[in-house]
Amino acid sequence: MRIEIVAVGTELLLGQIADTNSAWLGEHLAAAGIGSHFHQAVGDNHQRMVLAFRTALARSDGIIVCGGLGPTHDDITRDAIAEVMNVPLERDEELVARISSMFTSRGREMPPSNLRQADVPKGATIIPQTKGTAPGLICPLGHKVIYAVPGVPYEMSDMFDRGILPDLQHRMSENEEATGVIASRVLRTWGMSESGLADVLAGHIGELDVPAGNATIAFLASGIEGIKVRVTVRADDPDAATGLLDAEETEIRRILSDAAGDVVFGVDGEAIEHAVARALAVEGLTLGLAESLTGGLASSRLVNVPGASRWFRGSVVCYASEVKFDVLGVPKGPVVSEEAATAMAEGARRVLGADVGLSITGVAGPDPQDDQPPGTVFVGVARPERATEAVGFTVPGDRERVRQYATIAALDLLRRTVGSEGSPPSARIFGR
Ligand code: ATP
Ligand code: MG
Repeated sequence: MRIEIVAVGTELLLGQIADTNSAWLGEHLAAAGIGSHFHQAVGDNHQRMVLAFRTALARSDGIIVCGGLGPTHDDITRDAIAEVMNVPLERDEELVARISSMFTSRGREMPPSNLRQADVPKGATIIPQTKGTAPGLICPLGHKVIYAVPGVPYEMSDMFDRGILPDLQHRMSENEEATGVIASRVLRTWGMSESGLADVLAGHIGELDVPAGNATIAFLASGIEGIKVRVTVRADDPDAATGLLDAEETEIRRILSDAAGDVVFGVDGEAIEHAVARALAVEGLTLGLAESLTGGLASSRLVNVPGASRWFRGSVVCYASEVKFDVLGVPKGPVVSEEAATAMAEGARRVLGADVGLSITGVAGPDPQDDQPPGTVFVGVARPERATEAVGFTVPGDRERVRQYATIAALDLLRRTVGSEGSPPSARIFGR
């Protein structure tokens, strides 16, 4: 069974609201093992809605329409569905009574326009409203079906659970279709380009037997947060899906690690700061920061992690050169340099009483500093019983982006260094 989601609302096309309903529906259909190959968004325009519904019906077994079921003149979903079904709208007296009693119970008079919400295409059944005034619709068209639910997210999700999903499951069981589940897992990577990842994994992707319903792999660029590798599997039940995902994850990690080292920093919702927290926890180490270029950004990310106080000692935001010299004991000289980064990391460790010191210095721009161009970054890591390491690299972009990039790069370097046996981090040049 293949379902297409059609989100209705001119505000979606204008970018005034983001279409979170389609994302929610996509996720919940997949969890129920129901595929959806297309999503559409269409404005509050009768002809274009009719076209969207017809297009969807031609290539899918059913449609979920969300939005445009309200009482106002631009809420015309039910009219467009009636046209596609080639049936008239009929006023449902039971609905009239229910809608008017909802107004009475709130001590309000029902505006006559609300009666439109009691209009139902002939042959359709309703999904009773619980919270709002608009009921949902189940509209059969031969073997296919159009579901319509309100655009308000909590009404949409409630009606999906109560009305749409049970109806879909019933239809699938009548067709003796296996339901199963579709499950995904995202591997978060940092330090490789999308094309680099695709090249390294090309052989494996080629081997995957997609028609047999095993795994599919997709790449999603997430700006400075790196590239996501999403694995999707279809299986009979959630346990089987987890087993397939585990096997795929192991294989992908192995291939990437052979080709490019430890580029996977986390899974699903994990951000780089969670990876840092995990690396420190494994070694039982505390952390102190010396931030110049990033002005506290790295610290701010680290305290996103619940329980950060267990391992995060604090940060010296040493923006002025004098603070680097006086507070952290950095030797007088250029402060955008490997030497300064080294001394800052050691200073942070000492001053903050931490096991590990991380330092970030560089040039955000727009002007050069210490003869170094904007985008120049030095990061230092001081650890117990190891020589302090510092690396320099350049990052692209404007002031804001340079600071964000430098933050992630430093945290990535830290999580790799803490977890490793002390292999010196190599300087890398970023850019795509
Ligand atoms: P109502 O009875 O509230 O008018 P409706 O079915 O007419 O419901 P819309 O008018 O299309 O729905 O949307 C109501 C509100 O729901 C919008 O203002 C918006 O906040 C939210 N909404 C609509 N569509 C979406 C969507 N696709 N994703 C997220 N939110 C949405
Ligand atoms: Mg509306």
